[in-house]
Amino acid sequence: MTDFLFTMVLSELEDAVGRENCSTREIDKVAHSVDYFWLSRMWADRGYRMPEADVVVSPKDAKETSAVLKIANYYKIPVVVWGAGGGTQGGAIPVAGGIVLDTKRMNAIHDFNEQGMYIECGTGAIYKHLEWEANQRGYATMHYPSSLTCSTVGGFLAHRGIGVSSTKYGKIDDMVLQMEVVLPNGDIIYTSPAPKHAAGPDLNQIFIGSEGTLGVITKAQMRIFEQPESRKFRGFLFHNMTDAFNAGRELLQKFKPSVMRLYDEAETSSLIKKIVGVAKPGAFMNIAIEGVAELVEVEEKILLSTFAKYGAEDLGSEYGEKWWKEKITFFYPGNMMDLPQMFGTMDSIAPYGKIEKIYWEMKKAIETNFPQAKFIAHFSHWYEWGAMIYDRFIVEGKDVPTDPHEALRLHNDIWNLGVRTAIQHGGVVNDHHGVGIKLGRLMKEQYGSAMQVFYGLKKELDPNGIMNPFKLGL
Ligand SMILES: Cc1cc2nc3c(=O)[nH]c(=O)nc-3n(C[C@H](O)[C@H](O)[C@H](O)COP(=O)(O)OP(=O)(O)OC[C@H]3O[C@@H](n4cnc5c(N)ncnc54)[C@H](O)[C@@H]3O)c2cc1C
Repeated sequence: MTDFLFTMVLSELEDAVGRENCSTREIDKVAHSVDYFWLSRMWADRGYRMPEADVVVSPKDAKETSAVLKIANYYKIPVVVWGAGGGTQGGAIPVAGGIVLDTKRMNAIHDFNEQGMYIECGTGAIYKHLEWEANQRGYATMHYPSSLTCSTVGGFLAHRGIGVSSTKYGKIDDMVLQMEVVLPNGDIIYTSPAPKHAAGPDLNQIFIGSEGTLGVITKAQMRIFEQPESRKFRGFLFHNMTDAFNAGRELLQKFKPSVMRLYDEAETSSLIKKIVGVAKPGAFMNIAIEGVAELVEVEEKILLSTFAKYGAEDLGSEYGEKWWKEKITFFYPGNMMDLPQMFGTMDSIAPYGKIEKIYWEMKKAIETNFPQAKFIAHFSHWYEWGAMIYDRFIVEGKDVPTDPHEALRLHNDIWNLGVRTAIQHGGVVNDHHGVGIKLGRLMKEQYGSAMQVFYGLKKELDPNGIMNPFKLGL
């Protein structure tokens, strides 16, 4: 685009959202070029610049968002939605330049509806703000991801995120009622006022997980819950993973705990030992039960008798309580992996018949082919039908190539092997971090000809392909 044409476009954007809400300042462009994707951080750390937007635009509502998308569509300029940049998949990085549409001005709480049990808010709100609002009135959002304080409502919806109490309260897609969405052509639409219905396919589910490729989610009604009368923790140590899986599966046929988290031996003897203090060998599992006090008493009895059948050692409540206190500090500096280490979280999900095999196959594949990589895993979200695996690889010291191009190659080789192993054994590319630019290439391997459904939606809703190009394999 010529300087003249760019200045013309810029003046239209300034007219749409106000000059003070359109930035071409270098600092804003750099700040919106690196998210929590390891490659982007490594690239910047080695002195290279990631691709930057030409302009960062901050609309205040759906109407202004609509005006921005109409301008972008006319001039065929890429638009990348940016929540808080807390995503790990490079989803918010403007790889093709153009406009970064930052949602953070859309952070108001519009309605606290006790009767309807929801908070209606702008999607630029950091989720912790919803939690504070709910807590002040005696409620809770029950959405407690480790990134609660550094990610937006829109980001969680767009990446289909999940929090630690998901086994009882669900994923973000179970927590949303209605959404306001601005389509790529600028139309403002509303999904159904109730999340379960028989009036055609569920519009919510089309936009949840679409990672800004089909439109901008500008407002959402997020569910709230009454605070539980009682919440109890119980830690266990399993002496083999098969027993732990069978115990978990059986428990979930009986009732749903809120937290259910199993750590493999490697993670138990490292992170869990360091942060929670469990010093014995084995696989640590933390369970939280909550709700009406009388029911919690009964569920606790069922828990103890079920796990005893599988030889689990009952560690009492102390470690579970400590775990709950530290649930976010696990990801603070000092506990969390960080540069100069190379690392990645290859979360996958599958039914019970497959998840344990996926774990062992991924571990074997990574440890055999990349002996320089350490492999640790936990299983943090469980359902009646299956569980997710949160497995991580870590490479450190001299094993991390200093040349950024070589580091990128090694990183992608490890990811390709790990995710392909999961897919081959019946797992899914990703459970809750999303796809972004990191895993787009593997979407076709996951879905085969089913990708045409996604291509069709994309073509119909975004014929000029302006929304978040090269993400989600689209
Ligand atoms: C330390 C750490 C711990 C984490 N723990 C968890 C966890 O426990 N659970 C979990 O689920 N995730 C976790 N994550 C990942 C991260 O929090 C999520 O991916 C979150 O969804 C990112 O939100 P964001 O606002 O930062 O989104 P961004 O990174 O800004 O954007 C993510 C994607 O969503 C799109 N997007 C953002 N807002 C909108 C919108 N309003 N409309 C349409 N598209 C939009 C962007 O274009 C991009 O594709 C963690 C991340 C970190 C750094």
